[in-house]
Amino acid sequence: MLTDESLKGHDAELVQKLYALVSDWDYRDAQGTEPAKPYMNAIRDIDSLDELYDYMCSEDNLMQLYPFTMNVDADPVDSSVYVMYVDPAGLILGTEEEYRDRTEVGDLFYDEAKQIAEYMLVRLGYGEEEASEMFENSIAYETLLAEAIPSDKHERGKKTGAEDCYTFGEFVEMSEGFPVDRILEAAGLSGGDTICVSTPEYFAALKDVYTEENVPLIKDWLAVKTASELTDLLDKETSKTVAKIYGAMSGIDSEGNEDLIVLGTVAGYLPIPMDNLYIRQYCTEQQREDIAGIVEEVRQYYREMFENEVDWLSAGTRKAAIEKLDNMHVNVVYPDELEDWSELDFAGPDEGGSLLEASKAIRRFKAERKAGLLGTEADVYKWNQSELPASSVNAAYSGYNNTINIQAGVLIGEIYNEEMSFEQKMSGIGMIIGHEISHAFDTNGAEYDKDGHRNNWWTDEDYAAFQDRVAKLVAWYDGFVPMEGLEYSGDHVKTEAIADMTSMKCLLYIAKQTEGFDYDAFFRQYAKLWRDQSTPEVVREAILTDVHPAHYLRINATLAQFDDFLNFYGITEGDGMYIAPEDRVAVW
Ligand SMILES: [Zn+2]
Repeated sequence: MLTDESLKGHDAELVQKLYALVSDWDYRDAQGTEPAKPYMNAIRDIDSLDELYDYMCSEDNLMQLYPFTMNVDADPVDSSVYVMYVDPAGLILGTEEEYRDRTEVGDLFYDEAKQIAEYMLVRLGYGEEEASEMFENSIAYETLLAEAIPSDKHERGKKTGAEDCYTFGEFVEMSEGFPVDRILEAAGLSGGDTICVSTPEYFAALKDVYTEENVPLIKDWLAVKTASELTDLLDKETSKTVAKIYGAMSGIDSEGNEDLIVLGTVAGYLPIPMDNLYIRQYCTEQQREDIAGIVEEVRQYYREMFENEVDWLSAGTRKAAIEKLDNMHVNVVYPDELEDWSELDFAGPDEGGSLLEASKAIRRFKAERKAGLLGTEADVYKWNQSELPASSVNAAYSGYNNTINIQAGVLIGEIYNEEMSFEQKMSGIGMIIGHEISHAFDTNGAEYDKDGHRNNWWTDEDYAAFQDRVAKLVAWYDGFVPMEGLEYSGDHVKTEAIADMTSMKCLLYIAKQTEGFDYDAFFRQYAKLWRDQSTPEVVREAILTDVHPAHYLRINATLAQFDDFLNFYGITEGDGMYIAPEDRVAVW
């Protein structure tokens, strides 16, 4: 896709033009870090709060850095129209709690960001000590922002409601003393009437953070963030050294594969054109029919399983669960309508273009695209290709619209190919599909109804029984020690553990209804799904940050819950994988 000249159309032109810029290392090396200098100088020249605001609203603000994010999404009340959402900007340490009480997760993010920032700042001409101080100042500035985020107001990940909607005037008023109106205008996003604000306290507090006194801290933050985002836009030495730093953090001594670095850069800046090319090149209508067929098969058995094998719920709650299952929207392989980036253009190598300027044009285009959606008609069921590219190796469930996405990229390796046997398909793609459906019934999914609204569809008694079962699962996972010296948290992995076990239960239900089912082929294929080879550094990071159980637990802990598995291999009391029936923890 990067080099095949037979590919035609605007998407191919964009991809191949950017590829030419990214892969022209001679030109990039000749330019060195020069393209970044004017932008770093613009930050250096800021001398007052007024100049800081001017900078933030100007083209010099290369990475569009503001203390808050602006997104356009369906109105939480009237979901047929797009409105704006503003939220506190992402923080270096991940969450605001990390600035109050730092954990090992915060340490991990701190070390990573510090290494990259310091290297990049020195590369861009700052002194070593200076760079280190600038990074500390960035953390100090973010600590002030973090203090302004109320920790108890909103549980993370919950949907915004009617109570969070404000008019533009109300938003400006709550942020008095900080020019949100100027920033929205500069970002091209001042057109909407409704603004969803999850944390008004944060916006009220910005004027206390943005003071003349704090300008030096904020300048250093701008420099750190800008420099850290430039890693893939400069010369080869920068690119290789950054790859080496990331490699070392993962326990790998490597400069990275040059082709993969180039591919990653092109795909990172042009996700939609790349995705469109991938879909046109590699996806077929037949694949969609096949995968949609497997989804319906799994859904049918899932329904029966709820009816026949969930005896701890009242008939009413079970009926509501089945309604939710029936109403689930399904997106498979690729979207009906591809996202259109035909309005985007930038100068290629023949037109005197540079990679950095191309990246700027792309960023501006994305912002304008977002602005163009404001006030227009929204379709909550529309496949969001930016968030869920068809080509990514992924599948997802979204509680907000009760939708599962099974993307084309996941139809690979041990997960799916047309030649697989029924059993192999079931433990590969069948497992993935069952897993995503199950998220509708994990601890998050339980709070959203069949239309994706935050409504209670449980009786009090049933919900209490559900939570009891979840508590048992959490306590059981707490007991694992995948890595010495690291606490393992059942609470952290519970939604994914529930999804794995529920999916396995459904698949074993299908197996039971299938004559001559080859259990050995099924279980072996399942074990291949999550097998991998990792360094201790990668495992450690996954335990700290990944909400999925450790890979070996996704296989072993899941299978050991079921008699079908234990009996098939003759696993009994005294064997390592044996769990007594009363100690088993599958929630569903
Ligand atoms: Zn999942």
